[in-house]
Amino acid sequence: ALEARDLRQTYGTLTALSGVSLRVMPGEVVAVTGPSGSGKSTLLHLLGGLDVPQSGEVWWAGERVDTLDTQVRATRRAGRIGLVFQHHYLLEDLNVLDNVLIPSRLAGTRDEARARDLLARVGLGGREDSLPGVLSGGERQRVAVARALAARPAVVLADEPTGSLDRNNAHAVAELLVGLARQERAGVLLVTHDDRLAAFADRTLHLLDGQFTDSVPAFL
Ligand code: ATP
Ligand code: MG
Repeated sequence: ALEARDLRQTYGTLTALSGVSLRVMPGEVVAVTGPSGSGKSTLLHLLGGLDVPQSGEVWWAGERVDTLDTQVRATRRAGRIGLVFQHHYLLEDLNVLDNVLIPSRLAGTRDEARARDLLARVGLGGREDSLPGVLSGGERQRVAVARALAARPAVVLADEPTGSLDRNNAHAVAELLVGLARQERAGVLLVTHDDRLAAFADRTLHLLDGQFTDSVPAFL
């Protein structure tokens, strides 16, 4: 499971998060919505260990990770947390297969058969040798989905993973991400503005001014 306890983060005088706690269980799909600037990306960066909170704790699989050395945390992340961002972070000079292999290599569990299997399951069987630059936007996001699951993470964190795609493509990619994660019994935390995507989730959390709120914000 992924757990955050009372996360707080400020940038100068600006409070991005003011006490956020949550838990994502294996196989559970949780959506996070909220207006621009409400702290969604800040929260995902802290949960993914890409940044450390000013106060509060982040736990992956029973281990507190916000206090770990950055390098150690990166190695742990590779095997435990999958990441998908709005603008896929594919490495342009690595082919599709090598991009998908990045997390399992970092985790020390390089598994080419699994990478090929995941590529087939996202509809990209046969494209292993392609460079990312020749793929369409939707195909690139599907590579990012395969990569996020490649090292068998407990949880996938996705920040507007379909934000750069048209509506139909976005729906298809989100459905693929959630479907694969469920098959793999991985949890998903999905940040999205799109209520059609939030509908894939088992529960939805609303962020407002750096805190979870019980009421559904008016922007939805
Ligand atoms: P969006 O929907 O537009 O992506 P968000 O909910 O993801 O918004 P965050 O990116 O988490 O919002 O930002 C929360 C607040 O913290 C914003 O006011 C933002 O300007 C501020 N912020 C985030 N990162 C930094 C930073 N590195 N330095 C200064 N301010 C920051
Ligand atoms: Mg954001």
